[in-house]
Amino acid sequence: MSPEQYIKTHIRTVPDWPEPGVQFRDITPLLSNPRVFRVLIDQFVHRYFDVRPSAIAGLDARGFIIGSVLAYELNIGFVPIRKKGKLPFTTVEESYELEYGSATVEIHTDAVKRGDRVVLIDDLIATGGTMMAGRKLLERLGAEVIEGAAIVDLPELHGSQRLRDSGLPLFTLVSFE
Ligand code: AMP
Repeated sequence: MSPEQYIKTHIRTVPDWPEPGVQFRDITPLLSNPRVFRVLIDQFVHRYFDVRPSAIAGLDARGFIIGSVLAYELNIGFVPIRKKGKLPFTTVEESYELEYGSATVEIHTDAVKRGDRVVLIDDLIATGGTMMAGRKLLERLGAEVIEGAAIVDLPELHGSQRLRDSGLPLFTLVSFE
């Protein structure tokens, strides 16, 4: 079995959560099993080891889990991009549309420096709105997002295509149709 297949077998699908019609792709079984957790993180470590990013930025909240371990392994810093109202220092914010309503994410203004080359990571790309907002924040601070990374892509929602069309390279491990 390939690492990607091994990872995919440890993602749990919860139907109709958090609302009817949504198939929630739950990554917690990937985290609780130490063998598959290591295989998972190693995919990203191998991808970025020679790239030498300046930092890993992780999206609230599951992007923190994989992003911080990845940053530790690459011996670089980790930057959280949080939902509005959680970061204590000065921030810039970016709002984006959800299916129902909108969401806002924030980053500390000193989280990255102009010219930094950052990998932006989350657990999953659905419509791509969250990753696009995170990218905008990093770019507003003068950083370059060299790649977006996620465990799961949901290609039917066209988010990954939209992100790629906007010029952002993407690396995802598994997809669910
Ligand atoms: P989007 O902004 O539409 O690409 O949504 C991606 C964000 O929402 C990520 O932070 C995911 O954790 C979460 N998300 C959206 N849809 C799902 C899903 N079907 N299963 C698990 N997480 C999801």
